[in-house]
Amino acid sequence: MKSKGTNTNGVKIGLECHAQLLTKSKLFCPCSTDYHNSEPNTHVCATCLGLPGALPVVNEQAIRYGIKVALALGCEVQPEIIFYRKNYYYPDLPKGFQITQYDFPIALNGLVRIENAGDGGGKEREIRIRRVHMEEDPGRLVYKGTIDTAKYSLVDYNRSGIPLVEIVTEPDLRSPKEARIFLGKLRSILEYLGVFEGDLEGAMRVDANISVGGGERAEVKNISSYKGVERALSFEITRQKNLLRRGLVVKQETRHYDEVRGITISMRTKEFEHDYRYFPEPDLVPIRISDLVGEIRREIPELPDEKKRRFIAQYSITREHANALTFDINIANFYEEVASKTDAKLCATWVADVLKGELNYRAISMREASKRISAEDFVVILNYLKRGVITERGATEIIREMLDRGGNPDEIIRKKGLASIDSAEMEKAVLAVIKENKAAVDDFKAGKKEALNFLVGQVMKKTRGRATPQEVHRMVREKIGE
Ligand code: ZN
Ligand code: MN
Repeated sequence: MKSKGTNTNGVKIGLECHAQLLTKSKLFCPCSTDYHNSEPNTHVCATCLGLPGALPVVNEQAIRYGIKVALALGCEVQPEIIFYRKNYYYPDLPKGFQITQYDFPIALNGLVRIENAGDGGGKEREIRIRRVHMEEDPGRLVYKGTIDTAKYSLVDYNRSGIPLVEIVTEPDLRSPKEARIFLGKLRSILEYLGVFEGDLEGAMRVDANISVGGGERAEVKNISSYKGVERALSFEITRQKNLLRRGLVVKQETRHYDEVRGITISMRTKEFEHDYRYFPEPDLVPIRISDLVGEIRREIPELPDEKKRRFIAQYSITREHANALTFDINIANFYEEVASKTDAKLCATWVADVLKGELNYRAISMREASKRISAEDFVVILNYLKRGVITERGATEIIREMLDRGGNPDEIIRKKGLASIDSAEMEKAVLAVIKENKAAVDDFKAGKKEALNFLVGQVMKKTRGRATPQEVHRMVREKIGE
């Protein structure tokens, strides 16, 4: 099948993904990392403001989290890490350098498997991870207006010094869609590890290198949303292809992605590594991490791919359902809790298809939803459905009501009259419909199949969806046959 949209022939994409780690304090100072709901410049100290004479102290938890990430991505953890200064001046970087890692990073050579990238779906691809290293987050610049027209910008140093793990891929990604799927997988893995919270604003920021047809690569900086990655890359590929088509060359440069307008803008010609004058940070000593690796490896939980395989084997559910259920660790845990107490296959359908659909529609996470609908509630709903106490429509109605207004299943069934009707009531409705729709009954007798669907629809309407269509079908045929 020919895909619509951006033509991605000859496209090579490599990503540098910066993920904020969920430590309590910053990477080199005791300031709290819980800044998302705080006033600007309230989580700061001499160190993260870069004041003269302030000294960094390494946060051990951040290093442990970094090692955990590296192990989960199948990397070779290095025996020793050394922090470097990456020198450049920018208002969000008050020291005039960023403390990062250079030739002694935490880890090298990992691998992430992604699925469903091809048109056919279900195709597995391996994306190589080149390296994983730690660095500090710079502050946040707030532009008044857009980046290229703003008269001034404001700076918030709450983010300055937040621990980042940077995950660098080889240029193995072949399309914007693959890049989006890769990021989703990465997010999923990091959340499984409990070191990352993808919903937080700016939790993951991506720089992307893109080249087309073996030409020069352009780097798009600071893409800060998952959707933004696909959009920015599509825009950039089209821009480069248009240049090539007109016989022009793609310059090696750094471009900024404008989230609001969905375009990339040239910022500066590409800087090279030597421009940064990397040198070892003299205020920090090299750190041997080889002794930590064994202990941290034992803390790695079951990861998405393993969980998916186990779900398929243990609960006999489809690959699609297993994919949908294991992407988000909170959904996976919810599913297992419910599945252990009721029909696991029925549960897969109701969590993966119905509940997830309702969450997407409301743009809420499972974490939020579980405050309103517990696993126990869900077990009750599915058991009622199995016993015919409620219909599928009734079950959906209960889930919606609980997500929107709370309450419990029994209360909602009573309040909304969702209990399935008994056979006497159904018989009454069927007979009434037959009586009121003589023409349709005759049509059906004359062999018109659609007439039956019409009659069933009328009964469903009369009973406000409290009967199961299959039952109604059966009874209508039976009554007409009499
Ligand atoms: Zn600080
Ligand atoms: Mn970086």
